[in-house]
Amino acid sequence: MHRTDLAALDRAHIIHPYLPSSATERVIMVEGEGSRLRDSHGREYLDATGGLWLAQVGHGRAELADVARDQMARLEYFTSFWEFSNDRAVELAERLVSISPEPLDHVYYTSGGSEGNEAAIKMARYYHHRRGESSRTWILGRHRAYHGIAYGGGSVTGFDLYHDGFGPMMPHVAHLTPPWPYRAELFDGRDCTDFCIAELEETIDRIGAQNIAAMIGEPIMGVAGMVVPPDDYWPRVAEVLRRNGILLVLDEVVTAYGRVGTWFAADHFGVRPDIVVTAKGITSGYLPLGAVLVADHVATELGRDHGFPMGYTYNGHPTACAVALANLDIIDREGLVERAPKIGDFLAAELRRALADVPLVGEVRNVGMMLGVELVADPTTREPLPGIQHIADTIRAEHGVIVRDAATALVLSPALTLGEAEATRIAESIAEVLSRTT
Ligand code: PLP
Repeated sequence: MHRTDLAALDRAHIIHPYLPSSATERVIMVEGEGSRLRDSHGREYLDATGGLWLAQVGHGRAELADVARDQMARLEYFTSFWEFSNDRAVELAERLVSISPEPLDHVYYTSGGSEGNEAAIKMARYYHHRRGESSRTWILGRHRAYHGIAYGGGSVTGFDLYHDGFGPMMPHVAHLTPPWPYRAELFDGRDCTDFCIAELEETIDRIGAQNIAAMIGEPIMGVAGMVVPPDDYWPRVAEVLRRNGILLVLDEVVTAYGRVGTWFAADHFGVRPDIVVTAKGITSGYLPLGAVLVADHVATELGRDHGFPMGYTYNGHPTACAVALANLDIIDREGLVERAPKIGDFLAAELRRALADVPLVGEVRNVGMMLGVELVADPTTREPLPGIQHIADTIRAEHGVIVRDAATALVLSPALTLGEAEATRIAESIAEVLSRTT
């Protein structure tokens, strides 16, 4: 097919999420290698978002294609995962348990992050149900959280955009204040963590601990703009939840598999969650796969009687699991977990240098290779800058550098293999556009 027809066909036939049908532009990607991409017109791009925050090992690894091919030729997939298993799923589970924080000894496979959060919510409620505490149905989340777009996780997601117009969301969800030190106005002049802990305790008192199943949170809030909590936030939250018999579910769909400089962000923040939801970086996006890691005490309850009544067609897909194993091998072999904070801090330093004189920049923040550039209309009032999607579009159109806008920030999450020269180019491209934005 002639490449120039692709954009017209795309407009005619594809419903893209978050894209009005009136939008005329389509960038149709056809090739990638490392952090480089090429579109259907032969234009080159530098991928500063690592796909959708997941390309740990970068694009175009033929090694992963070979693994998928070999696995498909041997056994591509076989039927339900309830009474059958497969060698790749078992090997991957052993591997995940070996790198995951204690006490996560069990794995439930999904095809992605939204499915994983659905599973985690049902696991939490079912765990309490099996223990004779069926009243524990409430789920605590945070405003500006993102837990995917399915019904349960989407209800815990804390943005109106994902709720409005879809009818009633899942009941028994409460949203708390996000731990976002830069937005001091959220905390009534108090310390961010102190405020959040007091609010958590008040909420537990109001709803009743006996009615609450779990709290779900992203260790670092991605869609909110890579919002990094104070170091004492997660340990203190975990302590309050434990004291009240409420499960801690970390949504590590973005943060897991090396992106923050440890295999899991739970290790970075020193917390022991009951359930961890992962996806994305588990395969670096080469195939869809998610893994929900579950602590022994929860898995024991789920395994009783007839087992956990929630199965997907693609639980434990052998080809996706084989690719995940090979992807984890590359991360290990190339030392990418250790590399993430080094190159992430280098990129953050380059951004701070290049943006030092740009008044629109409120702060540059990062943990490893999750970075946010907070944009403000006025540095004194910290009022968010409107229209930042246009800025991301301009950086792509004029510099060929792909960044995303997320809430009030430009967000970056490149491949963990990003080179220093590429990091400098990303920083200077962003600075050039921001320096002439008013
Ligand atoms: N949870 C978090 C923290 C995410 O960032 C995402 C996607 O970006 C999801 C869940 C949803 O994952 P998926 O898009 O694979 O369903």
